[in-house]
Amino acid sequence: MAVISNHMPTAELQALDAAHHMHPFSTQDKLAARGARVIARADGVWLTDSDGNRILDGMAGLWCVNIGYGRDSMADVAARQMRELPYYNTFFMTTHVPVIALSAKLAELAPPGMNHVFYAGSGSEANDTNIRMARTYWAQKGKPSKKIIISRKNAYHGSTVGGASLSGMTPMHEQGGLPIPGIHHIDQPNWWAEGGDMAPHDFGLERARQLEQAIHDLGEDNVAAFIAEPVQGAGGVIVPPDSYWPEIQRICDKYEILLIADEVITGFGRTGNWFGSTTVGWRPQIMTIAKGLTSGYQPMGGSIVCDEVAAVIGACEFNHGYTYHGHPVAAAVALENIRILQEEGIVDRVRTDTAPYLQEKWAAMVDHPMVGEARMVGLMGSLALTPHKASRAKFAAEAGTVGYICRERCFANGLVMRHVGDRMIISPPLVITRAEVDVLIERAWKSLDQGMAAAKAEGLWHPA
Ligand SMILES: *Cc1c(COP(=O)(O)O)cnc(C)c1O
Repeated sequence: MAVISNHMPTAELQALDAAHHMHPFSTQDKLAARGARVIARADGVWLTDSDGNRILDGMAGLWCVNIGYGRDSMADVAARQMRELPYYNTFFMTTHVPVIALSAKLAELAPPGMNHVFYAGSGSEANDTNIRMARTYWAQKGKPSKKIIISRKNAYHGSTVGGASLSGMTPMHEQGGLPIPGIHHIDQPNWWAEGGDMAPHDFGLERARQLEQAIHDLGEDNVAAFIAEPVQGAGGVIVPPDSYWPEIQRICDKYEILLIADEVITGFGRTGNWFGSTTVGWRPQIMTIAKGLTSGYQPMGGSIVCDEVAAVIGACEFNHGYTYHGHPVAAAVALENIRILQEEGIVDRVRTDTAPYLQEKWAAMVDHPMVGEARMVGLMGSLALTPHKASRAKFAAEAGTVGYICRERCFANGLVMRHVGDRMIISPPLVITRAEVDVLIERAWKSLDQGMAAAKAEGLWHPA
């Protein structure tokens, strides 16, 4: 067989890919018929595909490439670490310098009182850890009945058995017999789709108070924790009404349950602070991290744990851990990523400059005839597409039909903007410049114009 490289024709790469590579969250047959896009290289916020097209990556990969692509120092650090100590485990009373340094650094960045880190290879694995850690915590405190984790419909917490169970996505639960026992889902704070006639403020309170109701229904003695993303990402960048976040914190304070903030997307600057919890005013006991921790240059996840939980867990043998816990190369790369974020002032720049700049233009997209809602927190944003703004109507077509059309137009126009159902979402690298924001907005408008024309031409422009 010929050497498989970027020099091969795209069609040949696609054929080999379809023959041997099973894709995540895809219908393999459909993908094989159409051919996967082959991304060859990337630099800054720009991807280059195998045909030489340059595409502005409005999604930072999968919400993860916070520092942008093509950072030589990340490669240098990885190479140096691989030569020095490519791997050693942290089981059996051993440790190594990269994991020590990263843990100390994360403790410094995390909110006060969160000084301990348990590692994983991904966000999903970290959430599996969180299930076991929360339950073990209560068992150690003499309350073994406190086992139930409350989560939310349309949340995303990963794709392992534990992570997918915590997630509130029906299509995931339908496959493989999920969720596992002891996971309870309440409704999401998605006013646009589910708010009906309620004012956003009242709706936010109603959705938060479902947590209190669930604690009553399930019994306070049976609930271990509530897990939530500060801003739902994969669910469609759902920004709750302002009333929601403080009410959640009030309820978590009032009842003896742990608040687990899933910061896999919102961590490491996405919302203009190091952690989304700061942005939304939460005081979690555990934070899930991954994605922006390494900017995707290496796979790594983890749980940042508060002193109290760490002390309780620390008094017993926690029978849990992964081979790649605190992996030295991933840890060294994470440290370099954090150094870049800090020394280039990227998080502050998001908060004070790029996010306000993008947000103003993003909010103006509500003037597009197909956009009913344009929301954004930091550098994560969403647009709700609708054929009738006043009634917040859905399209008279399978959910996601129009969103998909728009996404395809975006690609054709050199922009990655994803769709979740009929919501368009963006989450660009945090290093995006104002000039690149202008390009993003221009391409997004153009793609929506084309998508709307196509929806009309295909007879989809009717309220359901
Ligand atoms: C991506 C994601 C996860 C899962 O992380 P993986 O690294 O894909 O396992 C968990 N929680 C949230 C909020 C995510 O966005």
